[in-house]
Amino acid sequence: MELREIAPGAYACLQEDRGWGWSNSGFVSAGGGLVIDTLMDLGHTRKMLDLYAGVIPDKPRRLVNTHHNVDHCWGNQLLADAEIIGHRECAARMAGDLSPEAIQAMISAPDLSPGARWFADDLADFDFSGITLTPPTTLLDGDTELDLGGVSARILYVGPAHTAGDVIVHLPEQNVVYVGDVVFHRCTPIGWEGTFAGWIAALDRIVGLAPETIVPGHGPLCDVEGVRELRAYFEYVYAESRRYYDQELPALEAARKIDLGPYAAWTQPERLIFNVERAYREFRGGAWDENVEVMRLLEDAWTLGQHYRGGRA
Ligand SMILES: [Zn+2]
Repeated sequence: MELREIAPGAYACLQEDRGWGWSNSGFVSAGGGLVIDTLMDLGHTRKMLDLYAGVIPDKPRRLVNTHHNVDHCWGNQLLADAEIIGHRECAARMAGDLSPEAIQAMISAPDLSPGARWFADDLADFDFSGITLTPPTTLLDGDTELDLGGVSARILYVGPAHTAGDVIVHLPEQNVVYVGDVVFHRCTPIGWEGTFAGWIAALDRIVGLAPETIVPGHGPLCDVEGVRELRAYFEYVYAESRRYYDQELPALEAARKIDLGPYAAWTQPERLIFNVERAYREFRGGAWDENVEVMRLLEDAWTLGQHYRGGRA
């Protein structure tokens, strides 16, 4: 875990992307401290808050959750006294999402299937005990602006892109934007709600801000080139999926046939199956918030990973 000052008073807390759950956070020291996202568990979030306390010793006054996924909010209770801000959909889905007990039970069950084992192994460094879900209570329906003692922080609603409640935090004077999982940099993206077009529109909005530094939800810092790379990935995967959908190939067969080229070097390229499945859902007219069959797709991702490994051997 590494703290980087990326502009005066603007920080990123970065974790190397090692697969499921390894997310980034942000911090702005003005206005009593603004945290952007907590981490997957209490231990990692405590370590992160210690780094922020080295910048200003007082407990941060505000927390923004970019979206509801557990790797961005399961440390929220450590900032329970702060004003916790998020989109209305973020708060609603956080309360109705996976519980810490359920994930612990899932990963520690005997005789895990290969896909579940692959997922569980990534999560082995996290401790899901003691977590109390603490959703945002200051709820947003659209864009807003915070005045951090004379420093502006704009919260922009860009969902549904990765999830229904995606927001990003833009510091116009510092030329920095914290984008949560709207940007995965050099790691394979996954979307839980939304459409390809909606996600691409969100990426275009980020590029339109012309930021100098972008703090992605996963992966290293980037600039607008990183956003363009992700946009190109989506366009490519969408077009390839269309081709195989029209040939009536099952999604997993399509994923096997897609040549990832440079994207094969991104973390967990086998998560491609989630994106092909999302494209297929769109092609058959499925709703943008149709339930993702996570357990089945984990098995397919694992199978696809075996295919890649076999292909390289
Ligand atoms: Zn995430």
